[in-house]
Amino acid sequence: MPQVIPQLINGQWQASNARELIEVTDPATQEVLALAPKATHEEIEAAIAGAKQAFFSWREVPVPERARLMLRYQHLLKEHHDELAEILAGETGKTFADAKGDVWRGIEVAEHAANICSLMMGETVENVAREIDTASYIQPLGVCVGITPFNFPAMIPLWMFPLAIACGNTFILKPSEQDPLTPNRLAELFLEAGAPAGVLQVLHGGREVVDALLTHEDIRAISFVGSVPVGQHIYRTGTQHLKRVQAFAGAKNHMVIMPDAPKDQVLSNLVGASCGAAGQRCMAISVAVFVGESKQWIAELAAQMAELRPGYWKDSGAAYGPLISQQAKQRVQKLIAEGKAEGAECLLDGSHCEVPGYPDGNWLGPTLFRNVKPNMSIYREEIFGPVLVCMEVDTLEEAIELVNASPFGNGTSIFTRSGGAARHYQHAVEVGQVGINVPIPVPLPFFSFTGWKGSFYGDLHAYGKQAVRFYTETKTVTSRWFDDTPVSGPNMTIQLK
Ligand code: NAD
Repeated sequence: MPQVIPQLINGQWQASNARELIEVTDPATQEVLALAPKATHEEIEAAIAGAKQAFFSWREVPVPERARLMLRYQHLLKEHHDELAEILAGETGKTFADAKGDVWRGIEVAEHAANICSLMMGETVENVAREIDTASYIQPLGVCVGITPFNFPAMIPLWMFPLAIACGNTFILKPSEQDPLTPNRLAELFLEAGAPAGVLQVLHGGREVVDALLTHEDIRAISFVGSVPVGQHIYRTGTQHLKRVQAFAGAKNHMVIMPDAPKDQVLSNLVGASCGAAGQRCMAISVAVFVGESKQWIAELAAQMAELRPGYWKDSGAAYGPLISQQAKQRVQKLIAEGKAEGAECLLDGSHCEVPGYPDGNWLGPTLFRNVKPNMSIYREEIFGPVLVCMEVDTLEEAIELVNASPFGNGTSIFTRSGGAARHYQHAVEVGQVGINVPIPVPLPFFSFTGWKGSFYGDLHAYGKQAVRFYTETKTVTSRWFDDTPVSGPNMTIQLK
């Protein structure tokens, strides 16, 4: 009988009283790995109250001590890198190498959080008026919440809680109900690193738990990563309840291929960036825009994609794993069928894909369309599967126009040998993360993850300096110290100098 996973409340792993349980399955076999509870009202209240209480003492812990906690945590995460990747691969189906990458990208954020002392430095100006100085400090907000998606169950929780907590906040994590085992293990290691009780709480469940957190008066800030409709709901509801919200949402990322680009580089980068992790990455390339004569490479692209073989996470020859759920697979199959019905040319159809030994897996083969038009659903919707659509244009200007007309703005890349074309593209394109001959330009944690337009609701982005500003408030102190100069009477006007 699969175990019901516990929740972390006030430093204790507690069994939930939930009546409703969610199955966590291995997407390659449908084996039920565990059951996740849907946190009850009382458990949500207890987690919030405990986090609020813990904040009063945690905010007083010296910043270097908070930094040292992150150093120990980073060390433990590295020690448990393989173990975390195995848990992650088991519940997501990602290949082991890709699962290690997911964990690694998170470790890098914990590493960055260990620099919190310099990140928390404020500003000072001496003599803003005669013998008066002004200093600004940043202070934590209170209880912050993180709501995370299924596709990076290590990296995305780690985008959030290490920095929020290093800033002096307490944090409630509500991970995806589809793969909560990795986040639970991350939290266990955080306790082992020395995190005091209540500083990190973990609640499980879906919409009802999220809504209770979004509307609770004791929550100050919400970080969300997930799909567009849920992101819009989170942003609207959270801000309506007067909270600070950053909501990272879906994407449709274009790669622009200039005819002067090195063909072999283009093709191998396109294959990896579109089908890696079965296309279930918010920065996956899902649209290839061939400019001019580069369209002649599409047949070769199809041949290279056809060689990809999905497989079980322990199979070192597998290019990628299954889709996260049967529903996700059916949704992608439906979109592939719609693409054909709408008149796109399907060069490779992965709708019916079998992996020997794993008859029940949510497999999809690599899928490639050409002659795709902007009004087709395979262009308009985020597919989130190993599906690449090809568009053809005559000029770079047309490519820019196409990309800028998209409602999304997460990532894009251009492949070219021309510095002028690349410079023009990076300047003109309305997308927050641009790669030049780099297919998936995810910034490392000392920058920030800067999606734009429909891929992000809010203003301050994830990790880096922007996250420190998101998780803190600025306090400005203006001070003067008296000497023995006689008082010249009350000052009734604003001083002009
Ligand atoms: P999702 O929106 O279904 O779920 C995300 C989280 O929201 C989960 O914790 C889930 O429990 C919760 N949730 C789901 N429905 C809800 C509802 N109606 N009300 C309140 N909460 C709800 O997303 P997913 O399928 O887990 O993840 C895939 C999506 O995430 C893709 O669209 C992908 O592009 C996006 N994503 C974006 C980024 C980014 O940085 N922009 C990064 C990773 C993933």
